[in-house]
Amino acid sequence: MKVSAILACAGKGERAGLNQNKILYNIDGENCLQKCLRTFARAGVNQIIVTASEQDFNEISSVCEGQASVVLGGNTRTQSVKNALKKVDGDIVLIHDGARPFVSEKLILDCIQGANNFGGVIPVIPTSDTVVNCEEQVTDYLGKGGLFMVQTPQAFNTDIIKKAYEFAGDTAFNDDGEVYKNYTGNLHYVLGESTNKKLTFNQDFIISKAPRYGVGFDCHRLVEDRKLILGGVRIPHEKGLLGHSDADVLTHAVMDAILSATSLGDIGKLFPDTCDDYKDADSINLLKQVLSLVESKGFKVSSVSATIMAERPKLKPYINQITTSLASALSLSSNCVGIGATTLEGLGFVGREEGICVHATAVVIG
Ligand code: MG
Repeated sequence: MKVSAILACAGKGERAGLNQNKILYNIDGENCLQKCLRTFARAGVNQIIVTASEQDFNEISSVCEGQASVVLGGNTRTQSVKNALKKVDGDIVLIHDGARPFVSEKLILDCIQGANNFGGVIPVIPTSDTVVNCEEQVTDYLGKGGLFMVQTPQAFNTDIIKKAYEFAGDTAFNDDGEVYKNYTGNLHYVLGESTNKKLTFNQDFIISKAPRYGVGFDCHRLVEDRKLILGGVRIPHEKGLLGHSDADVLTHAVMDAILSATSLGDIGKLFPDTCDDYKDADSINLLKQVLSLVESKGFKVSSVSATIMAERPKLKPYINQITTSLASALSLSSNCVGIGATTLEGLGFVGREEGICVHATAVVIG
């Protein structure tokens, strides 16, 4: 059995307000179309046809190179699907909204199985909200019992859906399932997935971005005649940390964690210790510069955690002050900054009080 898929990507997606076709908008280093292509290929679909508007034809063609063929869409989704159906040579055809990038391999396989068993299936999920009809005012309460929301991919026996589209003529239908039902008089369903969301509005694109995690590590030597500064807080001690800047090992590890999460390099690259500008620099000011940099790239730091490894001095009395100082520099609430401290039980260079190390992590959205 050969399976084909049509990805409907010929719309304008204007409601998303992205100034480009939402199908081509980068979500996590990949656009909707790339995500769909990968999942359909992994599900073993043999032929993929993508519909594109004239405006996006070249860009969509370059994304699809070697993975799918591209056909010019029409003025409506129905016309676009009709154009693509002419190229379909599979026994079963899946028709999918390009704006549903989180479709799973399992749902695709369930739909293929359903079409094989029944001729035509749509994925549906029960509505969790009450549904009403609205005109100028609310006209009817439809309730929620027995009401389902329709998703894609919708899967059909190719010969039947081609005939159904011929039979449909120029009548407007909600989707391919309705075209099929109008012709055959029946239509089955499979259970869809709440994660298989159609990205429609600008907000959908923001919340669909996965958090990014970063790690940072730093270590400085403890010497006499230097100040000990951790997270911008001066800690009373007979020794301090050696470094080109103020050697705030905690703030350095936090900066590296944030830069790691955003793939923007590290502090060695941003603030080289060969540059006089950073001699004795206040690391909290450098952290603020890192924050400006990541925010200028559209990221938002969501939380930061760190463990300070120091044999002495005991840091417990200073943890709240350090947390508040870092939270303030990061424009975060203190409960989004988790700082801990531990000794190394006398082991290694930390145990011998030769240095202090910090391991930090950061969560970044955007
Ligand atoms: Mg350092």
